Amino acid sequence: MHFFRYKNGELHAEDVPVRELAETYGTPLFVYSHATLLRHFMAYKKAFSDFPHIICFAMKANSNSAIVRLFAKNGGGADVVSGGEIYRALRGGMPSNRIVYAGVGKTEKEIRFALKEKILMFNVESEEELVEIDRIAGLMELKAPVALRVNPDVDPRTHPYISTGLEKHKFGIPIEEAFEYYKLAAKLHNIKVVGIHKHIGSQITQVSPFVDALKKVMALVDKLSRCGVKIKYLDIGGGLGITYKDEEPPMPHDLARGLAPILKNRGLTIITEPGRSITGNAGILVTKVLYLKNTKNKRFLIVDAGMNDLVRPSFYDAYHHILPVIKSMRKTIIADVVGPICESGDFMAKDREVKAVKPGEFLSVMSAGAYGFSMSSNYNSRPRAAEILVKGKEHSLIRKRETYNDLLRGEVIPRFL
Ligand SMILES: *Cc1c(COP(=O)(O)O)cnc(C)c1O
Repeated sequence: MHFFRYKNGELHAEDVPVRELAETYGTPLFVYSHATLLRHFMAYKKAFSDFPHIICFAMKANSNSAIVRLFAKNGGGADVVSGGEIYRALRGGMPSNRIVYAGVGKTEKEIRFALKEKILMFNVESEEELVEIDRIAGLMELKAPVALRVNPDVDPRTHPYISTGLEKHKFGIPIEEAFEYYKLAAKLHNIKVVGIHKHIGSQITQVSPFVDALKKVMALVDKLSRCGVKIKYLDIGGGLGITYKDEEPPMPHDLARGLAPILKNRGLTIITEPGRSITGNAGILVTKVLYLKNTKNKRFLIVDAGMNDLVRPSFYDAYHHILPVIKSMRKTIIADVVGPICESGDFMAKDREVKAVKPGEFLSVMSAGAYGFSMSSNYNSRPRAAEILVKGKEHSLIRKRETYNDLLRGEVIPRFL
């Protein structure tokens, strides 16, 4: 459920006409709905309210500090995958003791930063990383709180690029080896074992892979407990899917209901790391039609948003609904909606049925709130888009559109040129 709806034939973000936003702030433009973000976040809080829990928003889905602030203010935490995301989380007002840190390639600098800021825990992905964190924590005379990210070898039945929990993937520690790693961790002087972590993939549209994975993890938690290794935090990862086209993914309460029998009466604090399912349908990308180009066999709608703004169609062959900002009674055409980038892979939609539009009119690419701006780039030297947060009748710029000057920031021309 989201709050982008037509009123009197005009697409609104909550109570604000999207056309007005496009005219005020220009395009391409990311528009987020405060009510939708909060609703999706609270759905998780409510679903897991029977357990001590922290909803750690996966910042890589949308790392704008205003959005992080919204979750921080409502008791949420952050799941980060880099030092940069720790920095953003802190700048967004996230308490450091609600930050969990995953990622297979943490550098010494990042580990030091995380230790200094006293994050809740490191989700450790290999033996080498565990030893490295122990070493650095020793130098800093600190104890590093650690969970091991286990790879439960469960197929999430999603796109291969976004599945992470199979044995062939680079993520986590194979679950059958994890017990040995925990024994090692317990012996390291500067490591404090506090949790266990798993995350099996993204855009998962069934509960059963989560249940299968959790059962495997729980068997390990029990085995550890028998050997005196106490787990406090059980981090079940993120990955719940959303409706892009016609998917019918489970809701957070379906997930919680499926997992509750396994989690009950264990005294664990549950951590979840939703990203897409919170922000995905809470954001749209507004774009302007530049040209209509017809060739013998094809029609192209050329718009001012490209793969540098939203890479998902190009990268994952992802489907996004494309809606006119002003509804029309015009005839339907079939066209490729493409961007201005010099790549054949630069498209928002292929062979899509859309209402005929004219240059200068606006389109809305739906479900662009997750892995949209956060994956955007300056490719083709295109300044990155502006981001707006709407709350009721109010709207506020939460990231300025980049300027040409921003494109050159940090570049240096050497003396010998
Ligand atoms: C990407 C990621 C998430 C979030 O995944 P979503 O599908 O956006 O919910 C959570 N945890 C980890 C470790 C991740 O890498």
